[in-house]
Amino acid sequence: MSFTAPFENTYAALPPGFYTRLNPTPVKAPQLFAYNADLAELLRLPEAPEADLAAIFSGQTVPDGAAPLAQLYAGHQFGSFNPQLGDGRAILLGETVGRDGIRRDIQLKGSGPTPYSRMGDGRAWLGPVLREYVVSEAMHALGIPTTRALAAVLTGEDVYRETALPGAVLTRVAQSHLRVGTFQVFAHRGQKAELRQLTDYAIARHYPDADGPMGLLRAVCARQADLIAAWMSVGFIHGVMNTDNCTISGETIDYGPCAFIDDYHADTVFSSIDQMGRYAYSNQPRIIVWNMAQFATSLLQQLDDPAKAVDEATQIVHAMPAQIEAAWLRRFGAKLGLSDPQPDDTPLIEDLLTLMQAQGADFTNTFDALARGDARDQFVDRDAFDTWAARWHARRDSEDNPQTTMRSASPRIIPRNHRIEEMIQAAVAGDTTPFTRLMQALADPFQTGDTDLMRPPTTAQRVPATFCGT
Ligand code: AMP
Ligand code: MG
Repeated sequence: MSFTAPFENTYAALPPGFYTRLNPTPVKAPQLFAYNADLAELLRLPEAPEADLAAIFSGQTVPDGAAPLAQLYAGHQFGSFNPQLGDGRAILLGETVGRDGIRRDIQLKGSGPTPYSRMGDGRAWLGPVLREYVVSEAMHALGIPTTRALAAVLTGEDVYRETALPGAVLTRVAQSHLRVGTFQVFAHRGQKAELRQLTDYAIARHYPDADGPMGLLRAVCARQADLIAAWMSVGFIHGVMNTDNCTISGETIDYGPCAFIDDYHADTVFSSIDQMGRYAYSNQPRIIVWNMAQFATSLLQQLDDPAKAVDEATQIVHAMPAQIEAAWLRRFGAKLGLSDPQPDDTPLIEDLLTLMQAQGADFTNTFDALARGDARDQFVDRDAFDTWAARWHARRDSEDNPQTTMRSASPRIIPRNHRIEEMIQAAVAGDTTPFTRLMQALADPFQTGDTDLMRPPTTAQRVPATFCGT
């Protein structure tokens, strides 16, 4: 096979203490399920026959120029520190610099055990692979920073969870897989030299203008503040915002038990393992600040006199809630047609959300209907909506082009949980139609006319809980 990709592997050039070099574990009978040809083109990957793509993106064949490795990291999981995590079922093949000049990792997920697998089998099954494929590409189409999906390949092997399920490998693409947890592992071990090297690497790769560890902290906090506001504005719940699932690039990563809100409720939790609601919708802005505080703590460990920088680090982290609030106001203001929302517009937005919550209004459809001028039908108590709408109209009257602002701030379609479940069940049974249809509708979320996929679940269709799905 000839598959000559322009790999340039900077992570593999870091010292061996950062990772373990190893190849993916070959699988029985790889079969391509989905391939993102546009992304492949962006990454400067060559065209190749399906069988070759299946072999490469299942880990059967290692392409020339790749430097496969599993990355080391630690992390706080639901608030408790785990000193050693690492890629337990992922292999970084290598990096390419895309046609846009951006360097990206190409990583296989579900590619077999590694020294960091702990009790896991290193594998994934088709369900979570397709969930990540669909939701990450949907997020990208929504304009929200995210890892991307390049390929989904069936392995021809069974994976055992509660039952035997079809195994699959996802190829994930990210601006890097550096996480808060990557810094935590070296900070925890007191490895100052590695921490410094990692900091330099992260700055060079993501924030070339950042000045030292505190400059890096400032840049990541700003990126994450925007990201969380973007999630909130489309009703996205990540579900497992552990520090190992929190990127330095500011991209959304790890689509495990994630879900989008249907009927609006601020405390919504989908993840079956999040029993305390730590990662509930409305808690996300607080959790990201907590995560950035862990990042700050780790960064400080590399300084000869950490006490000197504590004030600066504290100040940076403490500035985050106001940054998130400002980004939130900008995004939700736009959803109401306000091009330059001011803090005194906040009650207008919050009162709408309160009304939506009290009446069980659908998040996506209500904002879409507001943009199209027919939101009244989304509310059971129309009088209550009319009272709110009178205030809104009075405020909106001073705007030149509210409809345009609103339509570009509120998608018509999001990947609804019941549609994802339906798509997975069909795919397991060999029917790829729902996958293809979902991908098509989600590719153009501000325009789509697929009214069927826009509909909220009926009581019978409702999926109350999502699972980590490892
Ligand atoms: P996640 O919840 O997907 O972010 O994963 C948390 C940690 O568990 C990471 O270190 C993963 O690599 C590891 N992990 C998850 N699933 C598996 C699996 N099936 N086999 C080995 N390691 C896994
Ligand atoms: Mg993870």
